[in-house]
Parts: sequence; structure tokens; C-alpha cells
Amino acid sequence: MYTLGLINGNVYRDGKFTKENVYIKEQLISNFTPHGEVLKCVKIVDCSNKLVLPGFIDPHVHINLNLGEFRSSDDYESASIAAAFGGITTFIDFLEPINTVDEFEEKLQQKHKEAESSFIDFSFHTTVGNFKDDVEKLVNLSFENGIPSIKLFTTYSESNRRCSYEKISEFIDISSLTGSLILIHSENDEIILNSKVEDTVASYSDSRPKESEVEEVERLAKLVSELKGRIYIVHVTCGSSIELLQKNYSELLQNRIFIESCPQYFILNKDVYETEKGKLFLLAPPLRSSEEQEKLKKNIANISTIGTDHAPFSKEEKQRHNSASKIPKGLGGLEYSFSLMYNLFGASIIPKYTINPAIIHKLYPTKGVIQEGSDADIVIFDPKKKFIIDSGHSNTDYSPYEGMNMKGAVESTILRGQFLIEKSKFIGMNKGRFIHRS
Ligand SMILES: [Zn+2]
Repeated sequence: MYTLGLINGNVYRDGKFTKENVYIKEQLISNFTPHGEVLKCVKIVDCSNKLVLPGFIDPHVHINLNLGEFRSSDDYESASIAAAFGGITTFIDFLEPINTVDEFEEKLQQKHKEAESSFIDFSFHTTVGNFKDDVEKLVNLSFENGIPSIKLFTTYSESNRRCSYEKISEFIDISSLTGSLILIHSENDEIILNSKVEDTVASYSDSRPKESEVEEVERLAKLVSELKGRIYIVHVTCGSSIELLQKNYSELLQNRIFIESCPQYFILNKDVYETEKGKLFLLAPPLRSSEEQEKLKKNIANISTIGTDHAPFSKEEKQRHNSASKIPKGLGGLEYSFSLMYNLFGASIIPKYTINPAIIHKLYPTKGVIQEGSDADIVIFDPKKKFIIDSGHSNTDYSPYEGMNMKGAVESTILRGQFLIEKSKFIGMNKGRFIHRS
């Protein structure tokens, strides 16, 4: 007897859709039969005309992000509810930046405590600032605690978060020995510091210009080609960055250099900064020109994962200051991430939310696939359902995508065999848990 049977759906397995019934026993996927043959289950859900997809993974979220004057508005409870409505069953948050190994334990415990209220499964990336300590020691300690990924910045020297190239090289080199992954926020600090534009919303995109990303991506690619190891470039905003890699470093792309991008860079562009709503769209790196936006779409095949960089603030917080430098940077995005990208790319976007992040971030085969023995994290998706985006379930009063028309909606979200969302209603019986990655 199975606990749950999902019958008559189009099931996404091994990169294609199959007409099968999926059976879940307790928390795991347990069996399959062809449509027409139904095994005994405690509960059966008819998924006719629906897509049955692996639960989505968002590898890049910020929850309780501390920016001094501001703190992003979602805690684990509200973020995980918004995520569940969007079909996300696992997300990966970032520990606060550290400069020495000694600080790791405290930042880790702090996140574990915050995450106790999560309704979905979660993991963390370790983050370093201007790291001055023993790289190997930190990588090993992080690994032992289930975190095989370290994030660093090539910019933000003004807040002491920029990591030196010497240390970046060490991190990349050591990643080849340990199998860790180095996540890099790639913007060229000198170009940003030397961009002498006004501190206004209208000029914001030019204050962190496209060249700052493209140049830094090239510099990192050169570094990787000279070392061993692997890097993962977070929130890539420019199609030009990917074209450069494709042209000069194609053997590294999706092999030792992985690209993550975010829905906002596909859906929105910098023209919005010229409008009166501009402040509500401030994030770092900034939105780009419509030309770069189009180039990003053209290069989607070389983008491995889609993360949201989720970090919402309220309208009041976004509008409190006039100088761009004082406005909190970040947008909410968890809830509508998949629908937005599905509307642009159709089913070809599915691997970037499932198997790709699962493999790259060491969640596979527990997560990211519908196969026997994997966690029963499943999204029932209605590809025909139309809806208009509203402010959503995140703990903020707007969504940057509000008013957009979508075709394709998450109907139900199942985490380890239990419904979190059932027919668009939040059930929330389960509690998320930390996924130890190794
Ligand atoms: Zn981020």
C-alpha cells in the first residue's frame, strides 16, 4: 500500500514527459505504473492535463538579510510559504559574511536558528568577505557542516567584503581537491569605484555598468583556466558575459564555470529606473538595457541554473531615501520565478530549476528528480491556467512583476510526500529540514 498516488499526469523524468502514475511511500518516491494501471494507495490525486514535475530548487535566496538600516522583509516562515506557492521545495540561503574561520560557527548557528520556522527544505552557502584566514581550514569546516559551497565577492571593498585575488585563487584551487564549489559575485570593483555618475535612481544602472560584470567574468575565467577547480557565477545579468565565455572559454563553460541568472534580468530592464516607480526595482547588480536582456535570452542554453536572489523590502523602505546608494537593494521573486520563466521558455526551463541545481549544489539524487528513492518533492503544474501576478505571499506589499499575465500555474506542491500547497491552498503540515550536502 502506497501513501500517495499521483495518477494520469505528464511526468517529467529523464528530461522528457512520460504518461505514468507516480507512487509515494512515506517521504520517498517509490514506484511507477503506466496510465491505466493503478496500485492501491491511501490517497489518490488525479493529475489529468497537469505536469508532474520535481520540486523546484532555488539555489540563491536571502532570508533575514541584514543591511544595517534595513533588514529584508521575509523570515523563514514567510519566505518558505511564498516559495511553496511557487513550487519551490528546497532553497539555499547564505550565511553572513565572515573574514576569519573563527566566525563560522556563530554564523552557522544563527542561520540554523532562523531556519527553524521553514516549511520547506533548506541548505546554506558559506559567505566570506575580505577573508584573511586559512582557506583550507574554512573549506573543510564548511564541508563537515554540510556546506560544500563558499561564496565570495569581487566588489564591495567599501564595506570590506571584497576578497583578494590571492585568496580567490586559493579558494578555486582548493575546490579542485575537495569538490567544493566557489560562488562568485562578479563585478569589477575598480570600474564601479571609478564610475563617476550621479547617485540617483535614473543613473543607477550606469553606476555599476555592464562592463563591470563582463570584465570581471573574463578575469575570473582566465584565473580558472590557469588553475584547477570550479566556479559558479551568481546572478549573471548580461548576455555579453556569456558570449564572451562562449567565445574564449567554451571548454570551461558548464564544465568548470557555471552560470546562474535570475528571472528579473530576463523580464525587466533598466528603462524602469527612468520611471517614478524606479526605486522599487533597485537591486545589485542592476537591471540592464533591453539589448542585454535580449542577449541573455538568446544565451539561455549556457545558463545552468535560475536563482531568484530573493530579498524583498517594503515600498516604504524602498522609497524612504532619494540617493540610490541609500536605497536597500533587492527584489522578491520566489513565488513567481518558475511561472515567469516558463512563460518565456516553456518546458525547456525545467532542468534549470531541478536537476541542474541539484547536481551542481550536491542535492542530487535526493532532490531534483522524480525517480525511485528520491525525496517525494513534487510540483503539480497546470500549464493552461491563466492568472495575473499580485503582491503574493511574501512579507512585503508589492511584487516587481505585479499585473503581468501568466499562463501556467503551480497547483500543488508536495514536500517529502506531504502537501504544502493543495489546489492553491496552503496546508503547511510539514516542517522543512536542513539538507546536509556532501
Ligand atoms: Zn544574492
